[in-house]
Amino acid sequence: MKSWLTIAEDSDFSIYNIPFGVFKTKSSTPRAASILGNQVIDLYALAQGGYLKDVLADAEVLNQKTLNAFIALGKPVTNAVRLKIQTLFSEENAAQKDSLIAYLIPVADTEMLMPIHIPNYTDFYSSREHATNVGTMFRDPNNALLPNWLHLPVGYHGRASSIVVSGTPLHRPIGQTKADDQPAPTFGPSRLLDFELEVGFVVGKETQLGDSISTANAEDYIFGLLLFNDWSARDVQKWEYVPLGPFLAKNFGSSVSPWIVTLEALEPFRVASPAQEPTPLPYLQFEGQKNYDIQLEVDITAENGATKTVSKSNFRYMYWNMCQQLAHHTVNGCNVEVGDLYASGTISGPEKDSYGSMLEISWGGKNPVIMPDGTERKFILDNDTVTIKGHCAKDNVRVGFGQVSNKILPAKL
Ligand code: MN
Repeated sequence: MKSWLTIAEDSDFSIYNIPFGVFKTKSSTPRAASILGNQVIDLYALAQGGYLKDVLADAEVLNQKTLNAFIALGKPVTNAVRLKIQTLFSEENAAQKDSLIAYLIPVADTEMLMPIHIPNYTDFYSSREHATNVGTMFRDPNNALLPNWLHLPVGYHGRASSIVVSGTPLHRPIGQTKADDQPAPTFGPSRLLDFELEVGFVVGKETQLGDSISTANAEDYIFGLLLFNDWSARDVQKWEYVPLGPFLAKNFGSSVSPWIVTLEALEPFRVASPAQEPTPLPYLQFEGQKNYDIQLEVDITAENGATKTVSKSNFRYMYWNMCQQLAHHTVNGCNVEVGDLYASGTISGPEKDSYGSMLEISWGGKNPVIMPDGTERKFILDNDTVTIKGHCAKDNVRVGFGQVSNKILPAKL
């Protein structure tokens, strides 16, 4: 498959991808979009031009500031729209090139917005390497995983209101921290600000309270995936998290990439999941390849432009897959809503250069990263920008996510 549009070979947004997002320009209101190479496709205008009438009854679902109404139409509709866009912009349809060019807008002239309203956000803890690293650092290296970890996908309910899109700056959070050798906590800016390299999935189909989703049916409920940075203030976390878990160390902000890559676009990149021993309980068992080979990278860029790649990881390492996460989340009857976001948990690989957080990369601050300008990073400094990138590549087909990139501004005191 090839597009009549010239697309760079290393573009995340090939004709095979066709992700969905929301954009605006200086002259247009927020609306649904897709992207090919470095050209955003105005889907609302395309629908108004009559090009989607075979697959979409009501163009107005594309004329909204979030994709929720479009996603809620269900996979039969959203898949058909995606395939129609693919057909329109493919080489076989080059005859319509001159009229279709009118619906393309250079990326540089657009602003990408938060693509969905997120009713509920949950963060898992599903990378065995990450959980083992954290357990080794804070507990017992010989007994790093807690007793429940191999039996269920551990998670917590996070905060949806403070999830922002790539490009939105975040202030360093302030809060309570307590040094080990001090009797009382102090108040001030977090000194141990960290990122967490994660991938999130967006739910595309609701359930009713009391319903549960099986691992076999879970993919029907997953619209697509995006990159996710679960920003974390480690010093705040250390003091506050016992006994109920993450709270203000996480809820000051999380960030997502603007394009939702559909599960269908990721189909060629399925891989086997890691072997699970002990065998999980029946409701967590599954058949088939449920992991995805998504190459991930984290860069830190200092204010002066000095950039260092601090991690190269892969989504394929996840011990608990998305279907198991959704089955576990709903096994008690908890209902899901369209737009819900479920994040993987920090994705660490087996090697030191594949760890998904500064906590692990610098091993609690013991091994600082040296930036190209000679400065050190144990954690994230003010005015640093953290960028997560992700893509799949196989047999000359590339499907990518673009990036989630956010700058940390000084604390607002
Ligand atoms: Mn996390």
